[in-house]
Amino acid sequence: MGALGMLRRLLGQWRNGRVVAASEPSLQSLEHYVAAARNLGLDRPYLFLSFDCDTDLDAAAAGEVHAFLESLGIKATYAVPGAQLLRSPEPYRRLAERGAEFMNHGGLPHAEWNGDQWVGITFYDSMSPKEAEADIRRGHEIVTEVIGRAPIGFRAPHFGCYQKPEQVDLLHRTAASLGYRYCSTTIPSFGLKYGPAYETHGLLEIPCFGSIRNPETILDSWTYLTDRKNYALGDEYFDLMVETVDAFVSRELPVVFTWYADPCHVLNQPAFMRAMEHLAKAGVVSVAGAELTGLLLSSADCSGQPRNCVSGME
Ligand SMILES: [Zn+2]
Repeated sequence: MGALGMLRRLLGQWRNGRVVAASEPSLQSLEHYVAAARNLGLDRPYLFLSFDCDTDLDAAAAGEVHAFLESLGIKATYAVPGAQLLRSPEPYRRLAERGAEFMNHGGLPHAEWNGDQWVGITFYDSMSPKEAEADIRRGHEIVTEVIGRAPIGFRAPHFGCYQKPEQVDLLHRTAASLGYRYCSTTIPSFGLKYGPAYETHGLLEIPCFGSIRNPETILDSWTYLTDRKNYALGDEYFDLMVETVDAFVSRELPVVFTWYADPCHVLNQPAFMRAMEHLAKAGVVSVAGAELTGLLLSSADCSGQPRNCVSGME
């Protein structure tokens, strides 16, 4: 039986044969995703966890969050705007010394303090393509200079606002020209359409992931904060994550949980800590960006491309 047939059978059983809670969401919208994951050679759940470090609070929180994750065997990849790396180089250098991977997240700052809270700034959709490209190249220089290693992955600032085909194409094209191996700069709907990763411009795009209940909504910390000034993460974050993890783990379905958070949103937050403990206990394999890319490319066929590479997907 092919992967798709197997999945249909599993989904069918799930809907018809098993006693399921009436409120349990269907995996139907993820049917194509799972088939694409199998085509990539994946046979189990993976976690690709990254952190968006847009404010000074994140520079202070990242070390503690990292230590907590390390104690669980969970790897973290960091996306820090160049401006923040220049402002607080030491905490990030220490993380790099502990083996953390840093993506290029552009050069300009992504947030500013407006008197009572941090607000987002630097949106590529209000910049010219030339300015966006220059910011990506500046981000590359700063990561290389501060961290001491050239990044091989990229995520755009506030990437949810930069998803039009020509915009995503500009990001991928520029990252490819810098020799990158991956980007993770698209919203979950890309994953539903193309799977956990797809090849474009000679690199892999690894779309962010949602939850089985809200497959199109990024399961990030910002979306599920219940207090955006003092930062309190709602229980919904935990509930959605655990329900999603369990749905895949119990059925041994392949998936890449490409999730990210902001360190200051999750530091000492029970919803986050319990969710991470659950992921570790469930045996989900945690990978950093380079490792995930290596894994996906090593399962590629003899053409050197992942088996489900979507040609012309630009
Ligand atoms: Zn950012």
